[in-house]
Amino acid sequence: MADAARYHRLQRRLSLLAFVVSTAYLLALLFTPEGRALARGVAGAAEWRWAQVALVAMALVAVHSALTLPLGLVQGYWLPRRFGLLHQPLGAWLIDRVKAALIGGVLGLAAIEAVYALLAITPLWWLWASAVFFVAQVALIAVLPIWIAPLFYRLKPLADPRLRERLLALARRVGVDAVGVFVADQSRKSRTANAAVVGLGRTRRIILFDTLLADFPLEEIESVLAHELGHHVHGDVPRGLLVNGALSVVTFGLAGLALDAGVPLLGLTGRDDPAGLPWLALVVVALALAQLPLGNGFSRWRERRADDFSLATTGDAAAFIGAMERLGRLNLAEPSPSRFREIVFYSHPALERRIARARGGLA
Ligand SMILES: [Zn+2]
Repeated sequence: MADAARYHRLQRRLSLLAFVVSTAYLLALLFTPEGRALARGVAGAAEWRWAQVALVAMALVAVHSALTLPLGLVQGYWLPRRFGLLHQPLGAWLIDRVKAALIGGVLGLAAIEAVYALLAITPLWWLWASAVFFVAQVALIAVLPIWIAPLFYRLKPLADPRLRERLLALARRVGVDAVGVFVADQSRKSRTANAAVVGLGRTRRIILFDTLLADFPLEEIESVLAHELGHHVHGDVPRGLLVNGALSVVTFGLAGLALDAGVPLLGLTGRDDPAGLPWLALVVVALALAQLPLGNGFSRWRERRADDFSLATTGDAAAFIGAMERLGRLNLAEPSPSRFREIVFYSHPALERRIARARGGLA
């Protein structure tokens, strides 16, 4: 476990460094005469408002990517390889990153254009933007398993007949008619194991990494599946969407106040001035950070409920504990992070806590 502690300590330091670099970059753009002239100059290079917004956004991201590229390589490739978590060759890893960047870039640019279009036409832009984001997020979650996941994994329906039978029996016991289970070929890239409920409505399904199927005893896979079925039965995907929707209303509302305050402060021509984009980015990053404990607190609560569901359904605490310990070893999980780190950064309860809760159920 010394390895896990060291790995996470290194990753934390690098994340902090990346955060400092990003924040310093945005502050330099906003509060130095050269930075402001740059943002103004880039915005002035186009005639139409939407083109100005696109130019400023792309310049902002391009320079930021160049600044943080070395850190991204160390954090995403070199360190995980060093600690045995990743065996994907550099070329394949880079292709995955480029695909993710393209998807993120197109969606991000569409989001920024939508926000600036709304900023220009209505003072209630923050409510409209929240509504647009909510609909976009629903659509994205719905297409994730059928359009996006296949870009990164080969997905096949679960074939193992014993496991299928166990799963169907489990699902029947908890009153779920049918839910597809797909296996993703994670083993091509990494030894890490995971499972998740993804999609919405007709695209909803459980995805298992093949690394889980290869290394885990049947009872342990069953307890992981029961946890995922718990998310399914509890409707955690729609719940999560609603929580994100509520948080985005708060984010856009507060960002609106900050944008208005930034007009005199930063010499912008109005709240929809594309040169104000670095300011909006800084405010949104700060708000997202401030909301981390809320979103993660909600997620840990749903994860605890899914754990309880798994234990109650299988009645096999030993298998649950075995699965948690095996996942912890494979994924090099931090067994007992500080309470502060858990509250702010952890979407799942710390492993130690999940195991202790299962032991409590045993007693
Ligand atoms: Zn879960």
